[in-house]
Amino acid sequence: MSCESEGRRGFSQAERLLQWQAMAADMTRKNILRGLPTGRRTLLRELGTLADEQGLSIYLVGGVVRDLLLRRENWDLDVTVEGDGIAFARLVADRYGAGVAFFDRFATARLVLPDGLKLDIASTRRESYARPAALPDVAPACLKEDLYRRDFTINAMAIQLNPAGFGQLFDPYGGQRDLKAGTIRVLHDGSFVDDPTRIFRAIRFAERFGFHLEPATGRLLRQAAATNLVTNLSGPRLCNELLLLMNERDPGRTAGSLARLNLLRFLHPRLRYGESARRLVTVLPQALAWWKKQCPDAPVDRSLAYFMAVLSENGPVVIRSVIQRLQLSKAQSRAVEWAGQRTSRMARELSRLVDLRPARVYRLLMAMPDEALVLALGKGLATKKDEAVRRLRRRLSRFVKCDRYAALLVGGDDLKQLGLTPGPQYKKILNRLLDARINGEVKTEAQERDMARRMAMLSI
Ligand code: ATP
Repeated sequence: MSCESEGRRGFSQAERLLQWQAMAADMTRKNILRGLPTGRRTLLRELGTLADEQGLSIYLVGGVVRDLLLRRENWDLDVTVEGDGIAFARLVADRYGAGVAFFDRFATARLVLPDGLKLDIASTRRESYARPAALPDVAPACLKEDLYRRDFTINAMAIQLNPAGFGQLFDPYGGQRDLKAGTIRVLHDGSFVDDPTRIFRAIRFAERFGFHLEPATGRLLRQAAATNLVTNLSGPRLCNELLLLMNERDPGRTAGSLARLNLLRFLHPRLRYGESARRLVTVLPQALAWWKKQCPDAPVDRSLAYFMAVLSENGPVVIRSVIQRLQLSKAQSRAVEWAGQRTSRMARELSRLVDLRPARVYRLLMAMPDEALVLALGKGLATKKDEAVRRLRRRLSRFVKCDRYAALLVGGDDLKQLGLTPGPQYKKILNRLLDARINGEVKTEAQERDMARRMAMLSI
């Protein structure tokens, strides 16, 4: 199934029309900004006044405008200033006591206000690409040009913030029309070639909103996906897009689109995403829900867990090369290394073997990152063998809630007092003591000491 037809399943045409009629009614009353919480609206009014004092035009822009029109929550405030956005950002930071980081290359600044609110301020700009997939060169430009450099018409709208036009919508490229029709449309034919991350962004928005790709856009996307353009994207940029796709409501669908468009080949030409990985992605929500219940205070990285599920059918060579291609962080790499057979082996052992002492389970699981534990349960669930899954779940639960935190009351100093010379045997004895504690064979400090003494006597 193509991206286009898949996108249509989200909302029915009738639902979309009803939503749209409600929006249109609001817009005629010029109150699009009423969708924002009062505090944010007040802040935007103040920014408008401040911009007026500086003789600048200022707009709310991009995804937040789209989401206001769709009546979806979006807490990112992106504003753009016709003129020197950096100087304006400095002024705002001073006025509000905000922390600020500047990204001079793109003439943008990120502010964090004392109440934690994040605000991006940019200068309106045009962008040009020295070569496909390179980061763009930017030059000052008017609002209309700034909107033209954006990815899709639905993301290329702005709302004026200056007092005289507060709340007025600018939509030069038919963003409202496309929102109404549920259409993702690029602004020009070279869009995917300039920036192939837009291929992934198109899939993301189509999936999120249940939109379809406008036919010419769909054609351009498929053409771009069929070339090697994506190879020019740096690891972190590609990784960012993939993890964002895995963060959508139904990662199974976004992964399906990646597979249909043959985009997974950019991770590794032999990467497999077959039936068992698809099944794993489908049952992963149950494993994630289990985790949330067991460890509410230690959230796992949901996107990473889904990404690992997508990779789950691959061997260590492919997985290592994906890690390198995406230049994953240390923590991410440590988790992704467990995506394949290692977790499958673990899940098999823990679900099949009837006689497994808790300490043995502890030794099997102690090195696994949290995402890998979730994946292990997912792999069990995907087998649909009830008794085995119950066993696996029981063992994982005991480990994550209790045994992984097991600690001894005696330590190296106590062994020294017992006359043992420090050396490798310390580790051996302490490990055996810990196993005994996890298995419930020793419970008190005195019992630990006693066992330590017996082992020390044997080793002297
Ligand atoms: P999300 O809701 O997922 O955050 P968003 O549309 O807000 O989506 P951002 O990545 O925060 O996306 O970008 C903000 C805006 O910047 C977009 O709405 C779009 O106008 C513009 N933009 C972002 N990335 C690109 C890109 N690769 N090419 C062109 N325009 C882009």
